[in-house]
Amino acid sequence: MMRLQGVILFLFFPLLLQAQDAARFDRSLALMGCEFKITVVAGSKQKANQYIDLAVEEIRRIESLISSWKENSETARINRNAGDKPVKVSSELFKLIKRAKVISRTTNGAFDISWAAVKDIWKFDGSMKEMPDEKIIKTSAKKINYKNIILNKKKQTVFLKKKGMRIDFGAIGKGYAADRARALFREKGVKGGIINASGDLTTWGEKPSGKSWTVGIKNPLNKNKVFSWVTLEDQAVVTSGDYENFVTFDGKRYSHIIDPRTGYPAHGLVSVSIFAPKAELADALATSVFVMGKEAGLSLVSQLNEVECIIIDQGGNIHKSQHIELKKVKP
Ligand code: AMP
Ligand code: MG
Repeated sequence: MMRLQGVILFLFFPLLLQAQDAARFDRSLALMGCEFKITVVAGSKQKANQYIDLAVEEIRRIESLISSWKENSETARINRNAGDKPVKVSSELFKLIKRAKVISRTTNGAFDISWAAVKDIWKFDGSMKEMPDEKIIKTSAKKINYKNIILNKKKQTVFLKKKGMRIDFGAIGKGYAADRARALFREKGVKGGIINASGDLTTWGEKPSGKSWTVGIKNPLNKNKVFSWVTLEDQAVVTSGDYENFVTFDGKRYSHIIDPRTGYPAHGLVSVSIFAPKAELADALATSVFVMGKEAGLSLVSQLNEVECIIIDQGGNIHKSQHIELKKVKP
């Protein structure tokens, strides 16, 4: 499942590295079903490779923990036991689910990892040839409700209350993995870098030149032009959009972000980019604001500390939160 965020966000690097003792090294590879590009500032290629190897290992470990399609994952076990019994899980997964529920509460249910009750109904890979049956959608949508994900802190168990419930971390997992990889790099003393998961960027530190990382932001409806440059300082920027994983029926586009209230794909926006200190939050909020729409989304973002957003609506209009400054010229 490749995402197209790369199209609206890309990195600008100076051609000449100014510092003598450190340089930029990167590696691209497929992880968590998308293209990752990991960049580190290091003293040598050998050192950089050692660091990147560790991060890749960490991201793969997280993927095994959270992928619902990996039969042996804790997530798959939770789903298999839905409506039946609680499942004991690692403290890491327990905490991730707990944070996901906090985001559900914060977004009034727009974000809901139990959206996956309708996962088998909607296919955005070209295999779905006609509009799914309305009754089936309605019945399955009733099983979406984060309040029915029951956490028992003492026993460290997760219980999906209703049969047919399922959880899936498609909207938050990559962000979480990027945060963990960044923490690992910092712990090892890597001065700066970027984890780029198909255009979802998590940065830390600085470029070898000592300058901050810069991203150019494009409108998916007008891909030839950068409309703003943004400087990232220990920040993540994550985009959710309707322009890659979608199907069209009767001229209407149905994309992969589901409105938990209806079980149908959310519509109204083309893309939502969220800036936040952590990728996990940025990832979850990008999906949430896409569901909430422009007004409710901007209102939520304005209430959150250190969170900003840029929204592009179907008319190609750009809306931004209060503290984002659009810079037409590269800083
Ligand atoms: P993103 O690209 O981060 O917006 O994530 C989209 C993915 O999140 C989808 O492909 C689904 O796996 C999952 N998802 C869809 N709708 C929701 C929702 N309302 N809440 C949480 N996850 C969702
Ligand atoms: Mg997301």
